Amino acid sequence: MDNTKSLNNQIKKLKEENRKLQSELSEKKHGENKFRTIFETSKLGNKIISPDLVIIEVNPALVTLLGYKKKEDIIGTKILDYSPEDHQKHWSILQKELWEKETPYFNLETCLCRKDGTIVWVHVTSVLFNDGGKTFGYTLLEDITKQYKEKIKKEEFISVASHELKTPITTMKASLQLMNRMISNEKNFPSKILKLSQEAEKYTSKLSHLVGDLLNLSNFEQGEMTLNKTKFKLSDLIDECCSHIRFEGKYTIIHKGNHAIEVVADKYKIDQVLVNLVNNAIKYAPESTEITIKVDSLKKAHRISVIDTGKGIPAENIPHLFERYYQVNKRSKTAGLGLGLYISAEIIRVHEGEIGVKSELGKGSTFWFTIPK
Ligand code: ADP
Repeated sequence: MDNTKSLNNQIKKLKEENRKLQSELSEKKHGENKFRTIFETSKLGNKIISPDLVIIEVNPALVTLLGYKKKEDIIGTKILDYSPEDHQKHWSILQKELWEKETPYFNLETCLCRKDGTIVWVHVTSVLFNDGGKTFGYTLLEDITKQYKEKIKKEEFISVASHELKTPITTMKASLQLMNRMISNEKNFPSKILKLSQEAEKYTSKLSHLVGDLLNLSNFEQGEMTLNKTKFKLSDLIDECCSHIRFEGKYTIIHKGNHAIEVVADKYKIDQVLVNLVNNAIKYAPESTEITIKVDSLKKAHRISVIDTGKGIPAENIPHLFERYYQVNKRSKTAGLGLGLYISAEIIRVHEGEIGVKSELGKGSTFWFTIPK
């Protein structure tokens, strides 16, 4: 009697478990069906790729995007088959990020070659997922050809405009400098006119910096950052870049660390970075009359820091400072185009160094960069 009771109990339990499993299975199936519907009907190109970048599944939108008629034309091929040679490195980076570093998702912009040979620019988002013990990449491709072409047009315009503006502005700046030097030695020269003329020189100098930033930006965007590396003493650079500040007499430059260290780098470009950091300290931390330039020799690199004791930068702004066009306070009278730190970061990146900032509200900021030894 007891045996029958226990058997009945077991049957009841098994039935209950079976019911649960059935419901889980149907939920899973429901989820899979939903995913399949989204995959198939999405207007974005969808594909699933294996770790060796073979395309396992595609949706109709991707077939059309690549200029084919049937899924079967694409399934089994490699994504590299559609990538122009000079863009294949993008996919190697994606492969490394997802399968070697196991980054959960990865974004990139690249171009693909359609069946008829035309080029389509795409924004790619890839996420890793597991299926049957294997890892696959689920990838979304958005056609950004139109935006890309507009971006190129804008960049070309900036490049042409800044090239054209540079020479007249440089000439105007030099003439004003000369004129001011001459008239400031003239006795009885109306001081109001001298003041106006000095203002004109100041603003022409600002204009010249802005145009210089735009020109630099367009050069980087066209991939034109070639380095002309030489060996030089940091002290040469630091002395030169601070001479205009000493001349003004308002600020004191304090030197710390061994400035006699020699580095191998592009002197002109590192000078640009240093000038930008020192000028920023003056522009954005004017209350700090002392600016420290500190050189530290680390294990693998030399670190140069520009330290001010100004207002500091709010923590929420710090992660964005090195982004293109980013400004903390756009309305500030001294603000540029938000390109100075972006350009500095690009220069340091090409030198394979690092750049960063430490800032505390009310205490000041330390902008630093490294040059590898
Ligand atoms: P811009 O080229 O317009 O001068 P940057 O890219 O050089 O801009 O700097 C970006 C922002 O960082 C600026 O808008 C400014 O608010 C902030 N910033 C840079 N240096 C300092 C500093 N030493 N102290 C406080 N804020 C700073």
